[in-house]
Amino acid sequence: MAPETPGTEPQALSNLLQENRRFEPPAALAAAANVTAAAYTEAEADRLAFWERAADRLTWAKRWDTTLEWNPPFAKWFVGGRLNIAYNCVDRHVEAGNGDKVAYFWEGEPEGDSRTLTYADLQREVNKAANALTELGVGKGDRVAIYMPMIPELPISMLACARLGAIHSVVFGGFSAAALQSRIEDADAKLVITADGGYRRGAPSALKPTVDEAVAQTPGVEHVLVVRRTGQEVAAQERDVWWHDVVERQSDQHEAQPHDAEDPLYILYTSGTTGKPKGILHTGGGYLTQTAWTHDAVFDLKPDSDIYWCTADIGWVTGHSYIVYGPLANGATSVIYEGTPDTPHRGRFWEIVQKYKVTILYTAPTAIRTFMKWGDDIPAKFDMSSLRILGSVGEPINPEAYVWYREHIGGERCPVVDTWWQTETGAIMISPLPGVTAAKPGAAMRPLPGITADVVDDQGNSVPNGGGGFLVVRDPWPSMLRTIWGDDQRYIDTYWSRFEGMYFPGDGAKKDEDGDLWLLGRVDDVMLVSGHNISTTEVESALVSHPKVAEAAVVGATDPVTGQAIVSFVILRGSAEEGADIATELRNHVAKALGPIAKPRQILVVPELPKTRSGKIMRRLLRDVAENRSVGDVTTLADSTVMNLISEKLPSAKSDD
Ligand code: ATP
Ligand code: MG
Repeated sequence: MAPETPGTEPQALSNLLQENRRFEPPAALAAAANVTAAAYTEAEADRLAFWERAADRLTWAKRWDTTLEWNPPFAKWFVGGRLNIAYNCVDRHVEAGNGDKVAYFWEGEPEGDSRTLTYADLQREVNKAANALTELGVGKGDRVAIYMPMIPELPISMLACARLGAIHSVVFGGFSAAALQSRIEDADAKLVITADGGYRRGAPSALKPTVDEAVAQTPGVEHVLVVRRTGQEVAAQERDVWWHDVVERQSDQHEAQPHDAEDPLYILYTSGTTGKPKGILHTGGGYLTQTAWTHDAVFDLKPDSDIYWCTADIGWVTGHSYIVYGPLANGATSVIYEGTPDTPHRGRFWEIVQKYKVTILYTAPTAIRTFMKWGDDIPAKFDMSSLRILGSVGEPINPEAYVWYREHIGGERCPVVDTWWQTETGAIMISPLPGVTAAKPGAAMRPLPGITADVVDDQGNSVPNGGGGFLVVRDPWPSMLRTIWGDDQRYIDTYWSRFEGMYFPGDGAKKDEDGDLWLLGRVDDVMLVSGHNISTTEVESALVSHPKVAEAAVVGATDPVTGQAIVSFVILRGSAEEGADIATELRNHVAKALGPIAKPRQILVVPELPKTRSGKIMRRLLRDVAENRSVGDVTTLADSTVMNLISEKLPSAKSDD
């Protein structure tokens, strides 16, 4: 074991991984980029003036009086301003003569099942839905729970709520009745919008029975509005109304009223990777300002020529901000896909890229690692020459996955933007700019203009370059959460109590020698080995850089000698054999990449890893396994049988030398 060197302070988080690859922005892209390096200096000179200019991209019924009112930790942006979010996302594009422009190319999971919605179509549909919601008694400030598959009626419902000033709470369509019920109750929703079902892995998957079960316990729900998608049989309940009965007969005219910039827009519960989900509250003006600006800047969106596709589910914040609000505010043309990437075959995503000539693709590291595991030959079969920018979000992207994405999806010509943000931040906070940044694989690089993020030690002091610690945000930003719904105290305790006067997102990070930022995973997951704080991300990236490893998750397990020891769970690549000495091979590989301190005590080869429904690894459950405890709360797990598969592997664990 390696005790602390006397006289040196233990680092808040060790910096072990060295990465020297860099990718310059393509010259043509840089020359025509929406945002240049000047944006950083402009925002630094006057941050509020910078955000005012961003807010001026929107159409305001009344301009704001005060840009920011900051009573820490409660922020109000664009105070006194009035606007209608749905008008900004839809109507103003029609009024500008772009009614025939496609807003969404929608692709259902069953092949050949597709719909195209222009901005004029979207306007008519949103107006009808807004009229229907009004008839159902929904008005400004009311909460509407939305539990739907990825069909056009989902964004239409969200926009109808926004138009009326009703607050939507979208609950991911994979959640259980209990999860839906608790979210309906927490927000006290009076309407639930759902569908009979959606298509999932080649078959109709029912949603309505889950809603019936959930609302049986929630007397506050007055109506359940049901879209017919799959034609599955539905047990009609008294409060049910069909979308095709109630929405279709409405007028397609509806006059949007302006709302206050600080009126609530939506509640969205976090993914639940770490614990009980929090109802994050976002308001309209600041949120739309930052989602629209970042969507334009980070993806260099050219609304007249780009075809943009974000593969996230709209049930997560990525879908809210970068399928619905940001792209629509910018008048973009987007693709929405209902289903899974392997239905009916593992090339489905690339077939969609080819079909619609997608130019900007935004997806998650978990998907990229899965595609790597499936093999390079699958994307190689499709023409993806239309792509020009690739994005990543949701977890730290391992350098190996980044380079694979760049090469096999982006044909080595597309910049990859690794975008760090969370449900709470509402919009992208740290990311390269594709026409400016010489990006490093695995690094989120710099805070965007107008964002003051930093890395601090446990005393809250900024760490020098080369140091690791806690990510913080120093100043309020327009799309920040306003509170946790109904629980100001939890808002204060969770985000504003760790460091005086700073927002604490819960993530670890480091600054490299150039001052660029690398996200290192959640601080709750940091492993303390012989006095060294070691990030999960660095060890996992080292494991994934081994040619036999497809995915890896590591946790710190109690160890009598070192305090905690690193236990690794790995999924091997399709072609790799689980040889007798794979454990030794991988342990040595990590020690070589990161130094002996990071050498895992154990390597467990497993068939699957526990993930949330948004694809994030749930390390706390693996910690339970590694420490021989019974496994904790699995309600937010995508597949609850995975933990059994992993636990079965435990007796065969190959441990110590
Ligand atoms: P909960 O807060 O309930 O545990 P969650 O944190 O998984 O759920 P989200 O808001 O969807 O819910 O996820 C945000 C988190 O995802 C970030 O705090 C960070 O840990 C991780 N993350 C997102 N994007 C990146 C990225 N580009 N690099 C590194 N980490 C990322
Ligand atoms: Mg979180």
